[in-house]
Amino acid sequence: MSGATQIVAIDGPAGAGKSTVARRVAERLGFAFLDTGAMYRAATWRALARGVDLHDPEALEASTRDMRLEMDETPSGQRVTVDGEDVTAAIRTPEVTRLIYRLDQIPGVRRILVDHQRRFGERGPTVAEGRDIGTVVFPAARCKIFLDASLDCRTRRRAAELAAKGMPADFEQLREEIRERDEKSRTRADSPLRRADDAVLVDSTDLTADQVVDALVALARERL
Ligand code: C5P
Repeated sequence: MSGATQIVAIDGPAGAGKSTVARRVAERLGFAFLDTGAMYRAATWRALARGVDLHDPEALEASTRDMRLEMDETPSGQRVTVDGEDVTAAIRTPEVTRLIYRLDQIPGVRRILVDHQRRFGERGPTVAEGRDIGTVVFPAARCKIFLDASLDCRTRRRAAELAAKGMPADFEQLREEIRERDEKSRTRADSPLRRADDAVLVDSTDLTADQVVDALVALARERL
């Protein structure tokens, strides 16, 4: 495990602004950026594309193990490929989002993805964002942040993101889906979403993305 490497660990619930903010913090610090949610999404997309039985943990684990996953930062954002196919957009559909919980509770699946994440972090200074980065993936990280925001605020942000991608959503339904996804993340047996004891809580409800980025960069510079 990587205790010595410089890691900024950012955890929090869906829609707290982690991806946007974490990517920009990484740019400002000159660190690599690791979006761990994209890995759970890619594993879910692959299982669906191959018709793997979502009730069969061993089959889901095998599918995740066989997945050739590549994540690259490009000038137009992150590109994700699975087995050579560009799935950047496909892993963000509501269907994939709704079904991730089938995989993210399986310890074997998590182990495989966490191994990938640790290897990534060992290559150099990294800003990693997810649900269990400060608690499980990089517990020795010196800079841990738990980014939260009210449910309404998170729903508004997610609705705006989806609308920008041409996938408008019903606000109430989206709110309920986010609430359910939070509940599942917080109550699952393996690696539940929770704030690490040594993580700094940042509530972004009344902050702009710029303000959050500034606060996190300052925190990282102070801690690392
Ligand atoms: O961050 P994002 O919304 O892309 O994450 C998608 C899903 O992947 C989360 O809702 C959660 O179920 C799962 N996830 C996880 N552990 C992580 C990152 C994401 O279980 N470290």
